[in-house]
Amino acid sequence: MERKKYILLNRENRYLPAEYKKRNVARHKLLDSLGGNSMARGIETKCLHLEEEERETNHYGAISYPIYQTATFAHLGVDKSTGYDYSRLQNPTREHLEKVVASLENGIDALAFSTGMAAIALMMELFCPGDHLIVDADLYGGSIRLFNNVSQKNKIKFSSIDCYKEDVESYINENTKAIYIETPTNPMMNVTDIEAVAKIAKKYGLLLIVDNTFLSPYFQNPLDLGADIVVHSGTKYLGGHNDTLAGFLVTNREDISEKFRFLIKTTGSGLAPFDSWLILRGIKTLGIRMEKAQKNAFIIANWLKEQKAVTKVIYLGLPEHPGYEIIKRQSRGFGAMITFQLESKEYALAILEKVRMIKYAESLGGVETLITYPTTQTHADVPEEIRKKNGITETTLRLSVGIEDVKDLLDELEKVFREVEAELNV
Ligand code: PLP
Repeated sequence: MERKKYILLNRENRYLPAEYKKRNVARHKLLDSLGGNSMARGIETKCLHLEEEERETNHYGAISYPIYQTATFAHLGVDKSTGYDYSRLQNPTREHLEKVVASLENGIDALAFSTGMAAIALMMELFCPGDHLIVDADLYGGSIRLFNNVSQKNKIKFSSIDCYKEDVESYINENTKAIYIETPTNPMMNVTDIEAVAKIAKKYGLLLIVDNTFLSPYFQNPLDLGADIVVHSGTKYLGGHNDTLAGFLVTNREDISEKFRFLIKTTGSGLAPFDSWLILRGIKTLGIRMEKAQKNAFIIANWLKEQKAVTKVIYLGLPEHPGYEIIKRQSRGFGAMITFQLESKEYALAILEKVRMIKYAESLGGVETLITYPTTQTHADVPEEIRKKNGITETTLRLSVGIEDVKDLLDELEKVFREVEAELNV
């Protein structure tokens, strides 16, 4: 029994880079304590406690923030609002969540939406017909669908480029209003130097918008690096349990916050009170979930590298990743998303057929490990030639590594890969 445990532990550790243990939590805390305000609390504390509300005696001292399941609010008299009038405009539970997310991203305001796409769609209302945006070529498929089908219909123009390697400045014209990036991108994990692009944005008076879904505020804070707006699919790491949809926009600019507040009350895509509470609950464990998922991801990425049928493993924590040095500089961790290529389409499809504990499903960032086929799932609506240009092929799979016992994930993967080999006779 003991020996078996030792062998398993040894097998797991074999895949962890030597620097991992040293770096991990200690580095995170150190960086956090050095960043900006040295009095600022650590992010794990911020996930649990909202400093500004600590001395409030509302809610009878409830430790778990109450769910204000109400559509409207009574007034004590004319001009005597409680501060809340109607839940489309604002609701105490949603507001509490928004304050927590603003504090995690070091923003002055955060807005919670029914989904990540609702957040991005509202953000696009900042722009007018004729405006031009520079956007990353490799983005979540839903964002590409929105830009190509809805925003373009509204006469907004786009240059889709690889912001991580192209000369962003050369695409700016007199109508350019913003640069929109994902870093890392979904699913190819391209890493853009946020500070470098922020400098260009500032020089030309453009907004820099960063979708921070893949690393979450636990590992990366784009506003601190010069971004103006941060986007999140709260459905992913913030919620963390594959049970709730949500989205966020965070900003450190008052003028943008004002516009967003007007737009959310006008368009009505704010997050419902119960879902706000679920996301609040998810955020409480963001830190330990991210650390565990990342640790598992290191082990699995290195295991995948040893597989004959795997032709490429893209994980930010592998030193051979082209964005490795940038990520080490601008983030506190590498996350738990892995994209990998198989030797054939048949191999990739057979893996999807055979997984059991690991679920074949789109989405990411939850406690359960999911495997996704971008070609027919997350990126199905991206035109084939763009998909291929971005490197997404029929042999590409994406793993969102969860927090299971890593030995069980390795066992499952080993079983699945060996079964596929036997079936395909390779
Ligand atoms: N941004 C990224 C990077 C995503 O991966 C997703 C969804 O997968 C979204 C935005 C959209 O979020 P939602 O599914 O919550 O609408």
